[in-house]
Amino acid sequence: MNDSSLNIMDRTTLLEELREITTGLRHYLEEEKGRGFSGWPRAASPSLRKETPPPVIKPSLSPSTLEDLRAELGDCRRCKLHSGRTQIVFGVGNPRAKLVFVGEAPGRDEDLQGEPFVGQAGQLLTKIIQAIQLKREEVYIANIIKCRPPENRNPEPDEIAACEPFLVRQLQVIRPKLICALGAFAAQTLLKSEEKISALRGRFHQYQEIPVMPTYHPAYLLRNANRKREVWEDMKKIKQEYEKL
Ligand code: URA
Repeated sequence: MNDSSLNIMDRTTLLEELREITTGLRHYLEEEKGRGFSGWPRAASPSLRKETPPPVIKPSLSPSTLEDLRAELGDCRRCKLHSGRTQIVFGVGNPRAKLVFVGEAPGRDEDLQGEPFVGQAGQLLTKIIQAIQLKREEVYIANIIKCRPPENRNPEPDEIAACEPFLVRQLQVIRPKLICALGAFAAQTLLKSEEKISALRGRFHQYQEIPVMPTYHPAYLLRNANRKREVWEDMKKIKQEYEKL
């Protein structure tokens, strides 16, 4: 059948069908985009064909365990930080923790050991946790960003955009009753605020209906010991709420 053999009705029907197909396809792609799909890999040029293609990361809507979520994250290459990391620092602790601590991003020690807050600042965080009569294993510790930024620079917006959804989903799996945001970066990112940490700390805010207490980052405390009293005040408020749970 050539084009000229189509009558007006056939053409109209064909056009309508074509429109339906493209609309359906557009909706499908929009939904997939919402689930993290960012397009099919382009065909490699002949000179690149021997390279291993990036792993296909299958998004699932709601992993029920942290292990599933970790598996979904895979050998993540969603942002440029993957090229400088030793390993992904996913998070550590009790998957049913009532209290979650959220920091900024792994530093050198964390990048090497694959666990958040294990360096000097981490040791101070462990002491802070113990000061409210909890053990490190009882809480969960994670960061906004899971790969070490070069020279510990601040994470960039595209890196946050790629990584934060995984923290959001970790929190959806853990369903903590309280969150402590460590430092300006974590507090501002979670609370979508531009307020200074000195203005945010000291009172609970809400993050998806979970109370969040921002406080100074332990690394900042190592350089500014005079802020310890304020952190202690914040921790006492967390402890008070924790005891009610
Ligand atoms: N600082 C952070 O914010 N996170 C870590 O895991 C270590 C240091």
